[in-house]
Amino acid sequence: MPELRKDPIIGRWVIISTERARRPSSFSSVGKRTSATMCPFCPGHEDNTPPEIIAYRPPGTEPNQPGWKLRVIPNKYPALIVEGGLNREPKGLYDKMHGIGAHEVIIETADHARDMVHMSVEEVRDILWVYRERMIDLERDGRLKYILLFKNHGEAAGASLEHSHSQLIAMPIIPKRVAEEIEGAKAYYDYKERCIYCDIVRQELADGERIVADCDAFLVVQPFAPRFPFETWLIPKSHQSSYIDMSDSEYVTLAGCLKETLLRLKLALNDPPFNYIVHTRPVSKDYQDFYHWHIEIIPKLTKIAGFEWGSGFYINPTAPEQAAEFLRKIDVHVVPEKVGPEAADRD
Ligand SMILES: [Zn+2]
Ligand SMILES: [Zn+2]
Repeated sequence: MPELRKDPIIGRWVIISTERARRPSSFSSVGKRTSATMCPFCPGHEDNTPPEIIAYRPPGTEPNQPGWKLRVIPNKYPALIVEGGLNREPKGLYDKMHGIGAHEVIIETADHARDMVHMSVEEVRDILWVYRERMIDLERDGRLKYILLFKNHGEAAGASLEHSHSQLIAMPIIPKRVAEEIEGAKAYYDYKERCIYCDIVRQELADGERIVADCDAFLVVQPFAPRFPFETWLIPKSHQSSYIDMSDSEYVTLAGCLKETLLRLKLALNDPPFNYIVHTRPVSKDYQDFYHWHIEIIPKLTKIAGFEWGSGFYINPTAPEQAAEFLRKIDVHVVPEKVGPEAADRD
């Protein structure tokens, strides 16, 4: 069973999950590029994954059989597991608990060579829609405090399989990164009685120089103090604390906006590896007034090295104003060719 351990000095939890050492990607001799014939996420290989939690499939097709458009499955090598109690216990001055939670994989498409920039807005909306469905379902589990949704694209960003997918990890603690945002947003709210993210949206609209795109209900910006070159945020313009608070039509708008933003980054930076992370409020509604959900996209263009590890701050070689200008100018009507595994193998 995975174990959660707390660093007694700075209060950061880590997951000790030895099960994950067994996964194929942890052995360097196994190639990361998979063809559709070998891919466990491709239709016809449903037996190679744990049984699906939910799938979008036409009527008349059977669960765990081909025909699906999108599938959500438990991660075969989960960082946290669903069964059991938390059993939080001290061990001298240390704290630990069972690694309880959920670790799910959203297989975004049945097509091995298709990623979000090639999908229709409706297909992307379905992905965003299933995120919401899973979040609402997992929020009912009283043991869980936070649901983290993220996508790793490209080997350097941690994707062990290239078939387009995202992941969800529901956990019994609020992660430190999120807790820091909550703390900062709360302090601002206590002082000004306004949400800092709402204020950032107002300020960025007024300044203009860090805007990448304005998609009606969402603003795409380079943050004022980005850690990484081309770090990009998608922020809802109206105050919403949770990802699940959006109206139906906002999921459609977000789908178009996310797809377009990923396309800008792909064209501007030659299909960089990236991570995106949905930052949403914890399960508890206590954070509703001052927390404001958003998506952070981090292209992997630089490496975290000694200085960053030692100081916790970052040297970013690209000013966000320049990055925003560059991304704004990208012609998003040029959709790149689909890159299949065969094409990818050539490089
Ligand atoms: Zn595949
Ligand atoms: Zn707000």
